Amino acid sequence: MQPQQILKKYFGYDTFREHQLEVIQKIIAGEDAFVLMPTGVGKSICYQIPSLIRRGVGLVISPLIALMQDQVEALRQNGICAEFLNSSQSREEAQRVEKRVMSGEADILYVAPERLLSESFQRFLRKFPIALFAIDEAHCVSQWGHDFRPEYLKISEVTDHFPDVPRIALTATADAVTRRDIFEKLKLTHAAQFVSSFDRANICYRVLLKSKDKQQLHHFIHSEHPGQPGIVYVRTRNRADQIAYWLQNQGMAALSYHAGLDPHARTQRQRRFLQDDGLIIVATIAFGMGIDKPDVRFVAHLDLPASMEAYYQETGRAGRDGQPADAWMLYSLSDVVAMRRLLDQSEGEEEFKRIQRQKLEALLGYCEAVECRREALLGYFGEKYPAPCRNCDNCSQTVAAWDGTVAAQKALSCVYRTGQRFGAAHLTDILVGDTNQRILSLKHDRLKTFGVGKELSKNEWRSVYRQLLAAGLLSVNIGKISGFRLTEKSWPVLRGELQVRFRTDPRPLTKEKIKKISPKQPPYLIDDAARLLFEKLRRLRLDISKKRGVPPFVIFHDSTLTSMAALRPKNHEELLQITGIGERKAEQFGDAFLKAIHTGRSIPRD
Ligand code: ADP
Ligand code: ZN
Repeated sequence: MQPQQILKKYFGYDTFREHQLEVIQKIIAGEDAFVLMPTGVGKSICYQIPSLIRRGVGLVISPLIALMQDQVEALRQNGICAEFLNSSQSREEAQRVEKRVMSGEADILYVAPERLLSESFQRFLRKFPIALFAIDEAHCVSQWGHDFRPEYLKISEVTDHFPDVPRIALTATADAVTRRDIFEKLKLTHAAQFVSSFDRANICYRVLLKSKDKQQLHHFIHSEHPGQPGIVYVRTRNRADQIAYWLQNQGMAALSYHAGLDPHARTQRQRRFLQDDGLIIVATIAFGMGIDKPDVRFVAHLDLPASMEAYYQETGRAGRDGQPADAWMLYSLSDVVAMRRLLDQSEGEEEFKRIQRQKLEALLGYCEAVECRREALLGYFGEKYPAPCRNCDNCSQTVAAWDGTVAAQKALSCVYRTGQRFGAAHLTDILVGDTNQRILSLKHDRLKTFGVGKELSKNEWRSVYRQLLAAGLLSVNIGKISGFRLTEKSWPVLRGELQVRFRTDPRPLTKEKIKKISPKQPPYLIDDAARLLFEKLRRLRLDISKKRGVPPFVIFHDSTLTSMAALRPKNHEELLQITGIGERKAEQFGDAFLKAIHTGRSIPRD
């Protein structure tokens, strides 16, 4: 069978995405390949299809034991004979799997790297033909990456024994050092490289000013993602627990997840997140690698992430299925202050701190951006994006900028004249000429800067201070003294040698104002009837998945349900036209879904 036919028959897709077919053809021809694609683009098909076409079993090396079972289950639901071997199985189970592999029944076998390296497994490898070696999460081979696995260094010792078997290394981690390491350590000298754009077109990026974070979050979820799965990132364990509890009290299904929970609770909560249809996880960064859930509809940051890299990774967990998804972040003056303080207090070499400072500045620059967020985000990773993207807050509204040179001078001079030990609230009071008790007792009403800033509101002055901090034109004290202090960069501003531009903080956008791109396929749910039907199909999917003990997305993706609800197929033939329904799934679930589409009062026909 041709790759194209397999794509349709087993996966139910009509066309390949960028690079998929080229990679598949290389591997079928017996050559090595290196695939760098962002999460959610479709790396797995690049080795799954050649495994079906080439003689023998496709061997997939993957560090994510917790995911293997789901991956294998998803393939089986598509009618593909896949197996896995890892430490979670009993001896008997493992033996059964080995039998199926040796008899030629299985097409794909997932193994953990530890298993691959064991002597007994290497003897086992000699007993059947191998179609290919797929090295998933290949960045684990690099000490520079964030998930170094020493076992990965030895993979090539095993594959060296099979010079005729093609190898394909896959990762979503982009940076140059890691990439070089992958090539070197896996000895991929002759591998063809396939690098995709890192743009995640279906994700809508938004950054808002924080005022009442819990209420803002609640409003966002309630109005845009009711009952849908999502991840909320916060900085501390305590906060994760508190926010989750608060959301529960608002009637939302939410659980916290952080490193303070015992391993059992962690596994259980992760499992529930995968299997439930609408759970919200409030997490610290401990909730990370291995969250391979395609239908996460939003990722919300209530606190700033650690860096742009972290932001890209964390937001990248939204919308892996290609359906519209939101990356929504709140930040405030106090976040900026907290981050700056953390940085200055951190111990370490000057060089290390300098890099950290640059990273923080890049992140704050992203938050304060006046232009397309996507352009800024991809630009950080060295990719030139032709703005506007029309799927971020800044592309949906004009963010005004103003000449803030004079305001900056007033704000900085106020810091200086009060002895560099006060924060935004007090400084703002002085600038607008507020005669409160504190001002009077400190005699700050006699300062030259008292009342010189009446042209701006208190909020606007807070915004000025925030942006000065973000741009590094101002910093914070550490240790016992609180408040702001000037930096080297403040002086050129005070002397009038440097012009400063500020953005006018935009009002938060309502859902309607965000011009979301409509995904090309499948059709979006335009009418109420289709939306109702979608919910009905979603319930059916949940029932089926519970009965089978698999996550709902293993049955059908949201996009497939969306298409069904919009197109209302009448028979199996029409079902098979829908993206994501292959022959096996049509056979297994077709009748149940057709029945749900065409019965019941709540779904009037067009
Ligand atoms: P990655 O490993 O790159 O994060 P996956 O291989 O899990 O991504 O694929 C992401 C999603 O995209 C999956 O749901 C997959 O079924 C879907 N997908 C992959 N290739 C195609 C395609 N050609 N057409 C439509 N959907 C696809
Ligand atoms: Zn944009």
